[in-house]
Amino acid sequence: MKIEYVAFENPALQGEVSSLVEKYKYIVPPWILRIRVVMCANREDSLGTMARATLDHDYMSLALEVYARWIDQSDEKREETIKHEIIHSITNYQFNLAMNVVDNLVADENVRRLIKGQITERVERTTCWLTEIL
Ligand SMILES: [Zn+2]
Repeated sequence: MKIEYVAFENPALQGEVSSLVEKYKYIVPPWILRIRVVMCANREDSLGTMARATLDHDYMSLALEVYARWIDQSDEKREETIKHEIIHSITNYQFNLAMNVVDNLVADENVRRLIKGQITERVERTTCWLTEIL
C-alpha cells in the first residue's frame, strides 16, 4: 500500500499524522492500494469535522483529509479521529453502495433523504463502535 502526504507545510504535523496512519493502517482492507493524506490546515470543513475519509473503490484508494480543527484537539482526540477515519475504509464500502442504491432506486426525495439519514447514522455508529474496540 502506497501512502502519500500532501500539503503538509509543518514537518512535525506530518510526522504526527503519519505515525498515526502507520499505527492504524492494518485496519485498511488489502484491496486499497493507495492512501492519500491531505492536510487542509487553512480550511474548515463545512460541518466542523476534524477529518474526513473518502473511499474510492473504483480506484482502490482512500483519501484522508485533515482539517484545521484537528490540530487544536487533545492528543487522545487526534488519535481517535485518525483511527475513526481509517475505519471508514471498511464501513464506507457498504455505505457507498447503500447510498448509490438509494440514489438510483428511490424516486421520492423525502423518502430518499430519510433513508440516507438512517444509513449515515448507522454507519457512523458502527464506525464509532469499531473505533472503541480496535
Ligand atoms: Zn465517521
